[in-house]
Amino acid sequence: MQNKQHFGVIGAGVVGAGIAWHLAKRGHRVTLLEQGSVPNPISASFDQHRLTRRMYPGQPHYARLMDECYAAWADLFAAMGEDHLERCGALSCSAIVGDWADRGRKVLDEVGARYELLSGRDVEQRYPFLTPGRIRWAVLEPDGGVLLADRITTDLARLCAHADVEVRANTRVTSVKKETGTAVTETGDEFTFDKLVVATGAWIPQVLPDLGSEVGPCRNVMVYFDPPAEFAEAWKKAPAIIDFGGPEEVWGAPPVRGTELKLADIGVRGSAEAGSRAEASAGELSTIRQNLAGVLKDFDRYRLKRSMVCWNHDSPDSRFMLKRDGRVVMVSACAAHGFKFGAWSASWAAKALAEEVPFDKAARHMAGLDQ
Ligand SMILES: Cc1cc2nc3c(=O)[nH]c(=O)nc-3n(C[C@H](O)[C@H](O)[C@H](O)COP(=O)(O)OP(=O)(O)OC[C@H]3O[C@@H](n4cnc5c(N)ncnc54)[C@H](O)[C@@H]3O)c2cc1C
Repeated sequence: MQNKQHFGVIGAGVVGAGIAWHLAKRGHRVTLLEQGSVPNPISASFDQHRLTRRMYPGQPHYARLMDECYAAWADLFAAMGEDHLERCGALSCSAIVGDWADRGRKVLDEVGARYELLSGRDVEQRYPFLTPGRIRWAVLEPDGGVLLADRITTDLARLCAHADVEVRANTRVTSVKKETGTAVTETGDEFTFDKLVVATGAWIPQVLPDLGSEVGPCRNVMVYFDPPAEFAEAWKKAPAIIDFGGPEEVWGAPPVRGTELKLADIGVRGSAEAGSRAEASAGELSTIRQNLAGVLKDFDRYRLKRSMVCWNHDSPDSRFMLKRDGRVVMVSACAAHGFKFGAWSASWAAKALAEEVPFDKAARHMAGLDQ
């Protein structure tokens, strides 16, 4: 290798830990700084499931990038020795003209994606837990499904350790010095690197306040349920339900490979500093229940097990960002659709940091602006 460097990476989510591993594998010295444990249960990357799909209404650039994305997961799973993607399919239902799936199907056709079109009747027969008579049609993507997020971030931590990444858990960075590549921690310690990567997800504005206007942290509530006994088997075989159709914004992760059934409502979210308001309120739970009752048959018999609050961030156009200022590089791939791109984002950011591809080219590719 021509130029061996010392990289600091702040944040051990799927993006930061992935970048650290890619750089260490290339022979660079890497130090990973994480405010909590590694992986951290409050990170966006640590939950039982994250869904993957090609359906991208209004964002054909990301639909096109899904082939690269699936290839990046295959490479990562080969290194882990375990495939953490359950290809149970991704189902997007349409209940009214112009809803999310109706707009998304046009994008799938535009990019030439393969999918199965199910009639309303097919949907009712295959998925008996859905409210009958609501769905016009549904799109089933065969290569979509569930990424077992917490198992992936746990294995990434193991890969980092094997690649001799120096992991500093419980090390919260409070500020960075861009000219020198220095991370300053809450205890006043300073660590200086050739290049310092900020991959702190929803916490980016806390570490890099000048970016606060571009990426806003967002708080989301998810709920784990036990379904009524007669639907338990159908749920176990169900696809990832990306959208239940209609104006409601509810989605569901099936209980695959020992995980639990998780249901959520995109509408129950709001801007809030990452780490704040970690409990779901009674009002939020009531809204989620109300919206689920419209799309799930006999929903009043589902048993609420627990709720969970999780933070991601978003930019106005939901495009991933790779930016540099002095010796500091910021990677923002924590948009609400960022986990499925986690392996791919880490790989592209690492290629740019290792100077294998021009930085601006990698930044344009990650934002989907080079198509
Ligand atoms: C409720 C919810 C549902 C989602 N569903 C999907 C989905 O179905 N499909 C999908 O593709 N994506 C989904 N996402 C988005 C996806 O989870 C994120 O895009 C992705 O996990 C972001 O990874 P990250 O590494 O950028 O951030 P994170 O995983 O949040 O990691 C950031 C890390 O930085 C650490 N950190 C923060 N500040 C500091 C500091 N000052 N010092 C040191 N360490 C620090 C944190 O502790 C954390 O470990 C969802 C997100 C949420 C919240």
